Amino acid sequence: MTSVQGAREELDRARDWLHEQMRALATELTGDPAPSIRTPERPQIGAWEENGEAIRFTYALHAQDLTPRPGLGDPVAAAASWLRLAGWEVVVRRNVDAERRGCRVHVYAGQEPGAFVLRGTTPTVMLHEPRSDNPAPPACPGCGQPLRWIPLRNPRAQRRLRPEVWWSCQGCAWVGHQAHEGEELVRMRHLEGEGCHRCGEEGALVATEPVRDEAGQLCDWVVCLDCGVSDGRRWAGGGSTG
Ligand SMILES: [Zn+2]
Ligand SMILES: [Zn+2]
Repeated sequence: MTSVQGAREELDRARDWLHEQMRALATELTGDPAPSIRTPERPQIGAWEENGEAIRFTYALHAQDLTPRPGLGDPVAAAASWLRLAGWEVVVRRNVDAERRGCRVHVYAGQEPGAFVLRGTTPTVMLHEPRSDNPAPPACPGCGQPLRWIPLRNPRAQRRLRPEVWWSCQGCAWVGHQAHEGEELVRMRHLEGEGCHRCGEEGALVATEPVRDEAGQLCDWVVCLDCGVSDGRRWAGGGSTG
């Protein structure tokens, strides 16, 4: 609802185009017909608004420690000429800094002797409308009543709200949030018997369902509905789920 229509698709197309450009450049420089370009599936936050919201997003693509093909010479100089021929605006100092269609490519020396790195970024695009002062209440996923908005403070920024939109239900004690107004509701569970480490309030802590991270560790995200502080927690070895 408050997503900017078509913006995510446009940003994804920019990512795919940039991936293809970087793949062709890496192939030219390394001789590898299928070089690996690390390309995220979801965009990351590109800029924070003054009110603490995250509505602008970008993609960053990487190819680390590429080895120049035999006879290439200086990979940075070779990258600069390939990019110029491909229509990029290129600035060469110690590294290559190129721009085309709002995307940027940087080429610089890697950790290993002789190796080099490609880094690409898409434009930073507004994917969500700015938050309204009075968000429209969605229906409670538990009981169907209209949820009640919690204007939860951001403890790290005076007089600002947390970036998410928080909701609770007076009918069934459902509590949760949306990343942005109008988006999917994420349920939080109440943590009984634990006090907030910041404000000391008991019964105000809520947490996401525990999930396993990339390393296989159980982790969750805890928020205090009284003071707005948040923490990521993880358990070594995947023990208690609290
Ligand atoms: Zn409810
Ligand atoms: Zn607190």
